[in-house]
Amino acid sequence: MNIKELDKKYVLPTYGRADVAFVKGDNATLEDDEGKKYIDFTSGIGVVSVGHGNKRVAKALCEQVASLTHTSNLYYIAPQALAAQKVVEASAYDMQCFFGNSGAEANEGAIKIARKHGERDGEIKRYKIITLNHSFHGRTITTVKATGQESMHNYFGPFPDGFVYADGIDEIASLLDDHTAGVMIELIQGEGGVEPQDKEKVQALAKLLKEKEIPLIIDEVQTGAYRIGEFTASQAYGIEPEIITLAKGVGGGVPVGIVMTTLKEVLSAGDHGSTFGGNFLSARAVCEVVDILDELKKSGDLENTSRVFNKALEDFYQANSDVFTQKVGIGMMCGLRAKDADTLAKIIDLARQNGVMVLKAGRNTLRFLPPLTITKEEIDEGFQALSTAMSQL
Ligand SMILES: *Cc1c(COP(=O)(O)O)cnc(C)c1O
Repeated sequence: MNIKELDKKYVLPTYGRADVAFVKGDNATLEDDEGKKYIDFTSGIGVVSVGHGNKRVAKALCEQVASLTHTSNLYYIAPQALAAQKVVEASAYDMQCFFGNSGAEANEGAIKIARKHGERDGEIKRYKIITLNHSFHGRTITTVKATGQESMHNYFGPFPDGFVYADGIDEIASLLDDHTAGVMIELIQGEGGVEPQDKEKVQALAKLLKEKEIPLIIDEVQTGAYRIGEFTASQAYGIEPEIITLAKGVGGGVPVGIVMTTLKEVLSAGDHGSTFGGNFLSARAVCEVVDILDELKKSGDLENTSRVFNKALEDFYQANSDVFTQKVGIGMMCGLRAKDADTLAKIIDLARQNGVMVLKAGRNTLRFLPPLTITKEEIDEGFQALSTAMSQL
């Protein structure tokens, strides 16, 4: 039986899979089970930040697996402490970390911190979490409810109470009340359609929340780990949130979720935990990935790659202005708005057939999340394939 038949027979059908099975990769180049090569402009939805088959990560993980992968969080774990140090220092915020295994789990941790912080005076129970319409925060029962998309609340109820949706940053101030425990937003909505928030509005919101002592939670599961140029998008936006969540790119492909916070006193022993979180394997991956990305940033290569990628994307956009209406995004989290959703679906299929992987976001956005290590040759090759795809529309 081949892979596709096995999958259909034994795996629950929660994903609409494209008709391809990759077997290996090298930086931003993937190879399928028939030996065909593809340029990867997706990084597996923003995960493989340092490229496929990264030699340094492979070496670090092989060494780690050969000695210890897991002991439990009942004991000290050197790579976890080191990973926390690297993440905190890269962020330049005075924070501490909790390690989980996914973006949703990181956001669950963030909500728990905000809610326990909200109980501080005993009398008024602050439990409301304000999020934005078109947001995406995860697939667990709580984070799916935190997600401001009605279509995702069709089943699975009753949900945890207390989630309130604002129609944009402007509306948040009017929704704050004595029961508000926190405000959780993405600085660039990813799944919602590569939708950057306005910097001044975000700064004003951050200031207002500080005055009211309401924690600001920034969901950086997609924007974090240098995706938009700084380690966190919060740094790029010039704000100091109380809580930041990371996942996707920070593990380079090894499952990891991190919630980091200035509210170091809120959780105490027994309040939160994870069996796998921050184990030797995933923490070692974080150490190596953050080291590699720190070096890319310091050498100027990250900025250079982002410039080359955005130039190529701009040229592609100009050449196809009959199909795309706008170029959006920041750094290497970017997109092109297509004139309609059907055309977009066709482009993504044709792109794959021509050897380049791209993503959809929101209703009509062609999304690009390339590995941050992508080379100029890979960028050129990818856009050539994409141009061929457009000519076949
Ligand atoms: C992907 C994503 C999540 C969910 O992460 P999982 O690892 O799939 O649980 C949460 N928030 C944002 C902004 C994301 O992009």
